[in-house]
Amino acid sequence: MKGGRKMKKIGILGGMSWESSLEYYRIMNETVKETLGGTHSANCLLYSFDFEAVERLQHEDRWEELTALMVEEGKNLQAAGAEFIVIATNTMHLMAPDIEKATGLDVLHIADAAGDEILARDVSKVLLLGTKFTMEGDFYRDRLEAKGIEVLIPEEKDRQIIHDIIYGELILGDIKETSRQAYVSIIEKMATQGAQGVVLGCTEIPLLIRDGDVSIEVFDTTTLHAKAAVKVSIGN
Ligand code: GLU
Repeated sequence: MKGGRKMKKIGILGGMSWESSLEYYRIMNETVKETLGGTHSANCLLYSFDFEAVERLQHEDRWEELTALMVEEGKNLQAAGAEFIVIATNTMHLMAPDIEKATGLDVLHIADAAGDEILARDVSKVLLLGTKFTMEGDFYRDRLEAKGIEVLIPEEKDRQIIHDIIYGELILGDIKETSRQAYVSIIEKMATQGAQGVVLGCTEIPLLIRDGDVSIEVFDTTTLHAKAAVKVSIGN
């Protein structure tokens, strides 16, 4: 890339939470370094929300206000030179179409990054874990199903456990062995119901669950999304 093509500038809507935005930033830079070598590093802009405001509006069901905030910051990234947008959270992909429309920029969808890897590993039925908004809504599941992937979600009581651990612990950087065990037992229960893989469809879950912690395939959306972004940025 010396003196040649320039990397496209990635505009990241982050801080949701900053614990996972740190991972995005690290993975993007490591991937650029592995791909291009030398002192190359990611060409990106990061806008980092104060998550308290976001989380409060989510739990008060004030999605229109959240859309307005996301659109505003998407436009700011565009004005600062972003060439495409990465929303560094699964949940907030709910408003991906609004951001695309308002900015005219492509949003690199996290569910597509996950779905492409699911197909590449020959998996056809997955368990989707994430916030209740992600597990119970259509916006994420539809995107996977459009690729021909069957999507399972945990039962109500287990969805609540998954959700509460995300907002009460992972977003605060609190990684507990008891919570890891709770996740593992929910995943293994769903494996007996036919799940061949688990989508870690919340960008903080990879802080808790890793490949090898469970008996089925693990799809870490943070890593897959960050790597997909670098691919688009570099243009290969
Ligand atoms: N980072 C989480 C996700 O990927 C949850 C935080 C949020 O609600 O945006 O969904």
